[in-house]
Amino acid sequence: MFRQSTSLLAIAAVCLTLAPAPAFAQAPKKAPVDCEQVKCIALTFDDGPGKYAGTLLDTLKKYDAKATFFLEGQYAKSRPAFVKRMVAEGHELGNHSYSHPDFTKIEPAAIRSEIQKTQDAIKKAAGVEPKLLRPPYGMADLQVSDVAAEFGMPMILWTGGSEDWASKNVDAIKKKTLEVAERDGIILMHDWVKQTVDAMPSIVKTLQNKGYHLVKVSDIVKRQNLQPGDIFPVPAGWER
Ligand SMILES: [Zn+2]
Repeated sequence: MFRQSTSLLAIAAVCLTLAPAPAFAQAPKKAPVDCEQVKCIALTFDDGPGKYAGTLLDTLKKYDAKATFFLEGQYAKSRPAFVKRMVAEGHELGNHSYSHPDFTKIEPAAIRSEIQKTQDAIKKAAGVEPKLLRPPYGMADLQVSDVAAEFGMPMILWTGGSEDWASKNVDAIKKKTLEVAERDGIILMHDWVKQTVDAMPSIVKTLQNKGYHLVKVSDIVKRQNLQPGDIFPVPAGWER
C-alpha cells in the first residue's frame, strides 16, 4: 500500500515537471518602460505577418526588443501562428486593413468591412483585438477618421521611414533607419522585405548601443492622450 502511494506521488511529480508552458504565456513582467525617463523608439512592421516574421521575432527576442505589427487581415488569416507568437512575446498588434486598399478612395461601408474583417482574423488567431489603426499607405481623410472613431481607434502614422520596400538593400535599410531614428520616433518598416529582417540584428544592436529602448507604439503615444479617430503624428494640413 505504502509503495503504491509513493509511486503515484512520483508519477504526479514527473507530470508536473513535464507540464508544458501555456501557449499564451506572457514574457516575465518587468517594470514598464517610461519614455519620459528614457530614450524610446518604436519600430513598426506593416503588411504582415510576412513570411520572414519568424526570423524577425527570433531577433527581437534575442535582444529583448518590442515592436508593433500593423497586420493585414488576409495574412493574419493565412499565418495565424505568427500572430499568436507576436502576442505571446509581448509585441503590439495594429490593424492595417484586410487587403490594403487606399481608404480615401473607398466608401465608408467598405472601410468598415476592411477593419472589421481584420479585427476578426487577429482575434481568431491570437485572442486579442488591436486598438490602433494604420490606414494603408498612411492615407486618411475625415471620412476615414470617422470610421476609425467608430472602432474606438486612433490612427498611427510614422515619424520616419526605412524605405526598405524601395531599396531592398541591407546596408541602405540600416543607414536610412539610423538616419531617421530619433527619441520617441515611430519607424516604418516591412517584415515581407527579406533585407529588413536580415538587417535587423545590426539595427537593433546599434539602436540599443545608442541608448534607445525599443518599445511598442502605445508606450510612445501614451502622453498624447489620443482619442478615437485622432491621427498621430498629425500630417501637414490635417484639420479636425
Ligand atoms: Zn501597408
